[in-house]
Amino acid sequence: MTIRSSKKTFPNSSERQFYKHIVLVHYHEIGLKGRNRSYFESLLIENIRLRLANQFTQQSFSIRRVSGRLQVGVPSKPAAYQVAEIIKDIPGVVRVSVGLRLAQDLELINPVALQLLQEAEPFSSFRVSAHRANTDFPINSMQLNQSVGAWLVERMPDKRVQMRSPDVTLHLDMVEGGAFLYTYTQPGVGGLPVGSAGKVVSLLSAGIDSPVATWQLLRRGAECIGLHFSGRPETSDTSEHLVRLIAERLQPYGGLLKLFVVPFGDYQRQIAQLVPASLRVVFYRRLMFTVAETLAIQEGAKALVTGESLGQVASQTLDNIRAINDVVELPVLRPLIGMDKLQIIAMAEQLNTFEISSQAHDDCCTLFIPRNPETHARLATVQAIWEELPVADWLRNIMDEIEFIDTKSVSQTVEELTVTGGDTGGDTVGDTGSDTGSDIGGDTWSDIGGDIGGDTGGDIGSDIGGDTVGTNQGRGD
Ligand code: ATP
Ligand code: MG
Repeated sequence: MTIRSSKKTFPNSSERQFYKHIVLVHYHEIGLKGRNRSYFESLLIENIRLRLANQFTQQSFSIRRVSGRLQVGVPSKPAAYQVAEIIKDIPGVVRVSVGLRLAQDLELINPVALQLLQEAEPFSSFRVSAHRANTDFPINSMQLNQSVGAWLVERMPDKRVQMRSPDVTLHLDMVEGGAFLYTYTQPGVGGLPVGSAGKVVSLLSAGIDSPVATWQLLRRGAECIGLHFSGRPETSDTSEHLVRLIAERLQPYGGLLKLFVVPFGDYQRQIAQLVPASLRVVFYRRLMFTVAETLAIQEGAKALVTGESLGQVASQTLDNIRAINDVVELPVLRPLIGMDKLQIIAMAEQLNTFEISSQAHDDCCTLFIPRNPETHARLATVQAIWEELPVADWLRNIMDEIEFIDTKSVSQTVEELTVTGGDTGGDTVGDTGSDTGSDIGGDTWSDIGGDIGGDTGGDIGSDIGGDTVGTNQGRGD
């Protein structure tokens, strides 16, 4: 690319800038889905758009696909960090980076790279990691690493280039029509976009396990309908309140599509009267599964989900799992089946649900619990007793009494964010327009061209120093 000589200085922030603040969203797995790829990408874009709209009511962001990544336009560096923090939890996101988009021109890239590294202080080693998503650019990644690295080393003689585990990595992605530069990058939650795997009904107690199990399914792209059985009217409604809080905590990961609550206390009382004490829990669970399956069919869901873990409690021995599972035809997904409690707790802590689940509450499961529950229920015995119970009546009544909890009202209780940072920016990335980069390249280059070769360093510093991209180190995290 040729740069016309001109005496103009860099545009200040009120003029059109030659770079754009962006959040870069990286995804792997969805990129591997062949012909489904664009469907998965569209879902991910939509999920990001909805999540940002929910959090930033005053601001809209443009989201574009660029060379196997998503580029989210943001108005400023602080906004970029806020947006990245939200996006990293959205299923399907493997990594988020905060950086700048500029033209594919080393005369621009070099000084901006220097500026980004200076913002990453203190550090003693660095490396350049170039990636060429688009082979239009004449220099390959290796040559880019060397060229940009050599330019930087010359200007930072006290720093050393270190290929393995450097303090800072300066990423340079050459993409269609532009270049992304960034040093700040964070792993995302991974998985697949919510909505890509169909619907499930997740049996959500206020305990530690089921929120984690629900999260696992969200992360694999399932839309989760929560179903909670409350001990009401035999108990208070504390567990329902906790489940609402849990639903709120799941919002960043895609949230519940819907939440239903069944007042289950009366039915447990009847079961307790009609079945041997040692088998009560198996029957509570059979009735729960029956209700869950009926709801799943109504809602078009294709599986049930529980937080069961093998051998964790009496109802989760293989014999009892079999005796309970027998009552439904839909698959029952148990993502925690092979996990230890400590592993589950660690995940619940990450999800921020642990603290809620640890609060004391009356649970329907603790109602009428026998002292010695059966750990090896015989399927034939269970089936014979089940036949005698008024299950059809119970089911009809429960489906009449089931309560729908509006999760939209749940999500509204999540704190709304406002974008911080000066630049107007609503249209920033939107106007980078087509992937050809003509927009970015257009009139701006010639304006700044002359300066770049000469005394640009200071200009860049003053222009972008205030609100360009920071780094891990810069933010102290
Ligand atoms: P904990 O963390 O105490 O084990 P839990 O919710 O996992 O809590 P369990 O007795 O282990 O309780 O129940 C196994 C599974 O059955 C739960 O993970 C959940 O999927 C389902 N379940 C239990 N109680 C309820 C309930 N009240 N409402 C909805 N689902 C429930
Ligand atoms: Mg459990």
